Amino acid sequence: MAESHVVISQRGAERLRSGHLWVYRSDVRSSDAAAGDIVRLTDDHGNFLGRAFYSDRSQITIRLLTREDVPVDRAFFLARIRSAAENRKRVVEDTEAFRLVYSEADLLPSLIVDRYSDFLVIQTLSQGAERMKDDFVSILTELFSPRGILERNDPRVRDLEGLPRRVSLLTGEVPPEIEARRNGIRFLHDLHKGQKTGGFLDQRENHRAAITYASGEVLDCFTYQGGFALTIASRAAQIEAIDMSLAALEVARRNQELNGIGNVTFREANAFDVLKAYDEARRQFDMVILDPPAFAKNRESLAAAVRGYKEINLRALKLLKPGGCLITCSCSYHISESLFLQLIAEAANDARRSVQIVERRTQSRDHPILLTMPETLYLKCLILMAI
Ligand code: SAH
Repeated sequence: MAESHVVISQRGAERLRSGHLWVYRSDVRSSDAAAGDIVRLTDDHGNFLGRAFYSDRSQITIRLLTREDVPVDRAFFLARIRSAAENRKRVVEDTEAFRLVYSEADLLPSLIVDRYSDFLVIQTLSQGAERMKDDFVSILTELFSPRGILERNDPRVRDLEGLPRRVSLLTGEVPPEIEARRNGIRFLHDLHKGQKTGGFLDQRENHRAAITYASGEVLDCFTYQGGFALTIASRAAQIEAIDMSLAALEVARRNQELNGIGNVTFREANAFDVLKAYDEARRQFDMVILDPPAFAKNRESLAAAVRGYKEINLRALKLLKPGGCLITCSCSYHISESLFLQLIAEAANDARRSVQIVERRTQSRDHPILLTMPETLYLKCLILMAI
């Protein structure tokens, strides 16, 4: 069967040359490809540019797999996945749960693989990756012999590819609850229904970093299943951890029991209300942690998101004792680090607090950032001290 061929514009070719892996539909000149094909890419002059996944639906039509003139087959993907796993050996420590493959950043566009102890969760988020799913399962089985592989193909981006949202077992068994240690703390994970693929693995190194600064009274505002609160508990006197989701808090409490931790109180509440009430009551804390969901899901919601971030950061800064520490995060890709710093600076001025930046952090290193593809950097985590 002849290989499908896609010709892209000079602008598209330039984009690839700049190190990006995507070409948008408006830069596709001609194509004889079908949904999910692996295609040969050339520019207008017939110059070979690489091989890529093709989508007949998404605005992201091309996702580059290689710039070399090599076959893209099972052996190709096996080598890429093995290499991603090898790289994790250098950056992943003290955890049984981590991201094994992070999509474009591992040059495996639209494939995500997370490991929770002996179990794997995969996401195939484009037509091309979806078509390779059986191969991915066979490669992962060959390399890691997991006890089970689950597909968590329920993210909304699948709609843009015309792919159904689905959660299903691909091989072996995956029990409803899996225990995996992170930073020496035992956490339960629901791979079938939990947020993301069952946990916020991207925050793992930030949980650990928080230990250094934890002391006294702590307020953890968007705790989910206790990621920050339980990791720092041994360093704090008392921690109040709140979340709006009762289901998340139930697991948080079980995590707490599992680790025999006594000084964390989990409470169902709206963080905006709690911050406001404590501010008005002039409550003071040694540490406040803010890790809200992405307020800016797209560019249109940016202004409202900035207001939201500003409000919670303003309140949190006002709650800090002198020398107190604020750990504040944003996982909105559309809020850049510089914008985040700027809005917190405004909040600090409004709160009349002088603030030092102690650490500027990002997602854990098992969620690598591709230098030439800004979309792979989404998480900001600032550790600030109010003096
Ligand atoms: N800090 C967690 C991850 C937090 S994810 C960790 O490191 O593991 C964001 C959490 O915010 C979700 O659990 C969600 O239920 C909660 N949430 C969203 N809006 C909220 C609100 N207004 N008040 C309190 N919690 C909220």
